[in-house]
Amino acid sequence: MSSAPEDTTSSAADTPFKEFDPEALRERYRAERQKRLRSDGNEQYVQVDGQFSHYVDDPYLDQTIEREPLTDDVDVLVVGGGFGGLQAGARLRDAGVDDIRIIEKGGDFGGTWYWNRYPGAQCDIESYIYLPLLEELGYVPTEKYARAKEILEYSQAIGRHYNLYEGALFQTEVTGMQWDAESSRWIISTNRNDQIRARFVAMANGPLNRPKLPGIPGIHDYKGHTFHTSRWDYEYTGGGPEGDLDRLADKRVAVIGTGATAIQCVPFLGQTAEQLFVFQRTPSSVDVRGNSPTDPEWAANLNPGWHKHRMENFNGLVSGVPQTEDLVHDGWTDLIGKMVNRFKEATSAGDVDVPHIMEMANFDKMNEIRDRVDALVEDPAVAEQLKPYYQMFCKRPTFNDEYLPTFNRKNVQLVDTDGKGVERITEGGLVVQGVEYEVDCIIFATGFEVGTSYARRAGYEILGRDGVALGDKWAEGMSSLHGMQSRGFPNCFLMHMNQAAFTANFPHLLEELTTHIAHVIGHTLKKGSKTVEVSQVAEEAWVETIIEKGVGAMGALGSNDCTPGYYNNEGQPNPTASRAAPYGGGSIEFFKLLADWRAEGSFAGLEFED
Ligand code: NDP
Repeated sequence: MSSAPEDTTSSAADTPFKEFDPEALRERYRAERQKRLRSDGNEQYVQVDGQFSHYVDDPYLDQTIEREPLTDDVDVLVVGGGFGGLQAGARLRDAGVDDIRIIEKGGDFGGTWYWNRYPGAQCDIESYIYLPLLEELGYVPTEKYARAKEILEYSQAIGRHYNLYEGALFQTEVTGMQWDAESSRWIISTNRNDQIRARFVAMANGPLNRPKLPGIPGIHDYKGHTFHTSRWDYEYTGGGPEGDLDRLADKRVAVIGTGATAIQCVPFLGQTAEQLFVFQRTPSSVDVRGNSPTDPEWAANLNPGWHKHRMENFNGLVSGVPQTEDLVHDGWTDLIGKMVNRFKEATSAGDVDVPHIMEMANFDKMNEIRDRVDALVEDPAVAEQLKPYYQMFCKRPTFNDEYLPTFNRKNVQLVDTDGKGVERITEGGLVVQGVEYEVDCIIFATGFEVGTSYARRAGYEILGRDGVALGDKWAEGMSSLHGMQSRGFPNCFLMHMNQAAFTANFPHLLEELTTHIAHVIGHTLKKGSKTVEVSQVAEEAWVETIIEKGVGAMGALGSNDCTPGYYNNEGQPNPTASRAAPYGGGSIEFFKLLADWRAEGSFAGLEFED
């Protein structure tokens, strides 16, 4: 197979290691973490309800769909019309399931890509492996990193290809879900007064679906304009996802947050706002983007099976499993290249201390990231503030070629909060270290809820046998088989990383989970069984496996040594975390375990009621 189109990412093999003092860096990392630790953890954020509920209104709707409430009966009801719901729909169709209904809050399919239309939104995992079902649809994305509009349109194409628009209910939110043992059906209620009965339910609510706001004192008092990046207000800013935000030309704009979203939209704000203030609590690592258009010749000569092969190649590399080639060759796989080089160098010198070698490779990579800031930002003081001092993968790495140079513009000011966050919001602006910055608009690039209860993020409780809520069952820790099914909740399937697997390429995980779920549902329907449910023994054994395999398995991701963030419960101890961890053997082992389980054919650990 030929390689991807040309990219400009520097190769790890070409870069000599820079001299550094590891203990000084360790000490700096510790100090930066310490500065950011706060006792309120997740409680520092405010929910987007009550007076904040307008933050989740849909700004993209042309019209409200009018329809009568439904009271029907379907085979499978899928909650969520993003990639998870679409992939579930696709794999269920493949398994011969006709009667599918997808319920989606947005006005169309797309999920994350329906909501996140901020200027510059783009996938940050290579599109040739990030977009699902490419071979099934006979599609190759137009760029190495596709833009949000293309991904949204592609989501809709999946919906059409698999005939998922039939039965889809848009602009509809699930408000309740209850198991009715007598009829062996789930009863689903919605904000449109529907009462839908379903033999099976599959939850594809998404991992980052609920925007969050910082609980900054005074946030209620601000009188100017505000919105969250996942509901971009083009009415106010003018322009579109490609930029040209012309209505900001006479506006003083504040962005709070410097995560993956801010990195992508700040360059566009900087181009047009009269004055832009970027309020930073923790800098992101910003690596080379190196986007490029797809080479048509390369696309035309892809061999059948290329998509899965490429996804597995990437997943192998970012999981640290040596591959004969690096097909994706980008910032994600570059770190692994660094590790391989370090290994070669260290082992030839007789060093076999693997954690030490990995730490050194991580230092190398982060030194390179910090050097990149110096190379791109003219003012040395600003450059210093933009340098991240934590291990790679403590926070989501980002990739962008325009973000750092934006701080060379005269109309753009970085307001570094020294790890403390914005101190106060007033009627007219924001206060940091006693200085008030007056602004016309505050844009919250403050991310999404993670680590709060499943019901809170989903917006409804799942009531299983005897009316027991899933949240109550999991109050002391999660229990499931393979993360997807939980005892007491027959015919109910979940799609998430917890007790399943972590991979940087989330749609790859969804591909494996939805294939598995469709296999179990298809089999249950064919068999004519009323229910399929996890046995007590199988569930207990899987929880044991998760705990045992999880010890020390997460590395830097989620580690307690990391600077606080949503990867590690904002740095707070979490007594239930070990049970909610992804499978510690890694995603490659987990995917094989699922495939072997299906191939073995006995549906081990599941009980069927005929
Ligand atoms: P994040 O949670 O990553 O970032 C939120 C930002 O808000 C952080 O910089 C955080 O600082 C800051 N913040 C929070 N509270 C305050 C405060 N009180 N004062 C100042 N700053 C504050 O959200 P994003 O939306 O950026 O990204 C979420 C996830 O979405 C990513 O991790 C990624 O998985 C995904 N994503 C993917 C993209 C893609 O594929 N193209 C693009 C964008 C996002 P601190 O770090 O100190 O907490």
